[in-house]
Amino acid sequence: MSTERIVADPESDPTATWALDPGRVRGLTSRAVVADDAAHVTTVTPLSGAPLAALPQSTPRDVARAVAQARAAQPGWAARTPRHRAAVLLRLHDLLLDRQSEILDIVQLETGKTRLSAYEEVADIALNCRWLARRGPKILRDRTYRGIVPVLTQVTQVQHPKGVVGVIAPWNFPLVLSLGDIMPALLAGNAVVVKPDNQTALTTLWAADLLAAAGLPDGVLQVVLGDGPGVGGAVVDTVDHICFTGSTPTGRVVGRQAGERLIGTSLELGGKNGAYVADDADLDRAAEALVRDCFNNTGQQCIGIERLVLHEAVAEAFLDRFVDRVRRLRLSAGLDFSGDIGALTSAAQLAKITAHVENAVEHGAVVLAGGRPRPDVGPWFFEPTVLDRVTPEAACYAGETFGPVVSVYRVSSDAEALALVNEGEMGLNGAVWTSNLHRGRRLARQVVAGTVSVNEAYLTTWGSSAAPMGGRRASGVGRRHGREGILRFTESQSVAVQRLMGMGVLYGQGPERFAKTFTVLLKAARATRFPWP
Ligand code: NAD
Repeated sequence: MSTERIVADPESDPTATWALDPGRVRGLTSRAVVADDAAHVTTVTPLSGAPLAALPQSTPRDVARAVAQARAAQPGWAARTPRHRAAVLLRLHDLLLDRQSEILDIVQLETGKTRLSAYEEVADIALNCRWLARRGPKILRDRTYRGIVPVLTQVTQVQHPKGVVGVIAPWNFPLVLSLGDIMPALLAGNAVVVKPDNQTALTTLWAADLLAAAGLPDGVLQVVLGDGPGVGGAVVDTVDHICFTGSTPTGRVVGRQAGERLIGTSLELGGKNGAYVADDADLDRAAEALVRDCFNNTGQQCIGIERLVLHEAVAEAFLDRFVDRVRRLRLSAGLDFSGDIGALTSAAQLAKITAHVENAVEHGAVVLAGGRPRPDVGPWFFEPTVLDRVTPEAACYAGETFGPVVSVYRVSSDAEALALVNEGEMGLNGAVWTSNLHRGRRLARQVVAGTVSVNEAYLTTWGSSAAPMGGRRASGVGRRHGREGILRFTESQSVAVQRLMGMGVLYGQGPERFAKTFTVLLKAARATRFPWP
């Protein structure tokens, strides 16, 4: 996101009032790898439009310095045992819960989200942190396999860290999408260079401070700040694995760049997620959960629902419940738990969401709830909006809105519902409501998405730390969470040890005899089910 310059720089304007103490901000930004004469940009808080932070900006040369420092620190970190590294994560867990009010304020001020949504970030990191620390060391352990010659050959699979991992994060869940990927990369023995979005840089800097307090050695985590193509591009150009979360168009650029260098990628990209409410669904439960699914984080959520697919037998009864709940949601700019819907994070977001709604209405859509900006609450607030009769020509029909806007469609069968949910190139998340769990599981498997919840919203899949999470089709490459979420930051190496006799015994027979003997052995193994190799 480009940083909005809607205020004079308060460093030089004594009339401007900072939303956060500048001394505190300077303390946090002192951790960033920047030159002494670095240029600064000023961010503003979406809650009020007040200036928030003067951020020094890194250059590609600073990125090279950050990667070199990380590279120097990495072998010492990798030399520690996984259990030792896990202990740092457990201390991080405790510090995060103890100091949560600090980060709740920062996350709210940077993103404009509600305190509950900010708390979800804290809870998510705590859950993952504990899971990684408790399960990770076992996942990273060597594994042994039977080799080509039974008993005599033993193969060990070793997981090596990749080296320096680059993490590029967006602004919508700044704690989860930076720290959440940094943690497994560190646990696997890597050093990390992270580049957050400028709008949410303070959150990442605070997390880096917390990791240092938890015992992470100096140099292992480096933070660089700056624009996407320049500074982000320099990260992709120098690290050993890139973990990118952001939009699909940028993901394609990052993927191409990483492909040129033949480094591994984890790409967590956009979604156009659908939820199907079947004719036997519990409508009260569905309405309650779907309000959360569609409007949490003011709809700025990659796994949020933008397509609501209703069986026609229950559509009107569901909409009565759902629209009523949406209309009662409270917009709030408070640094407390009083609100249900926060601000959009930028003027660009407000312009895009307003354009999507206006465009849908021009193409025949009907507004069932919301539909308007709310400058009376704060500069970038927009009402949670439900659109009916959206036509395929509307921009929000196939394109990701990434805001508090959901479109309603009616269908007459499961097949029609699946066709609509699966339409387009995305495949991130989905949901199915039915009182028949067998039907729910069957339908879920037919949704082309990396995660699908039955009778709940996204929290069940995302919150289950052991379960992999990520996109299919244009929604991403690779998975975060679970075993896959750790092993993506490692290289497998197979080490085979041959004991007593070498392979020369077989080859020593001469080529023709060897081929015959080996064929007999292959057939015998097949016939007897002898576990070989
Ligand atoms: P974005 O792609 O514009 O930016 C994401 C990050 O990439 C930012 O830090 C940005 O500075 C950086 N960047 C931009 N151009 C770059 C380049 N050429 N090289 C390297 N880095 C570059 O995305 P955004 O608008 O910040 O985030 C919203 C998008 O992210 C939505 O599409 C949303 O669905 C997606 N998202 C996906 C997930 C997921 O887990 N799949 C999670 C959150 C958000």
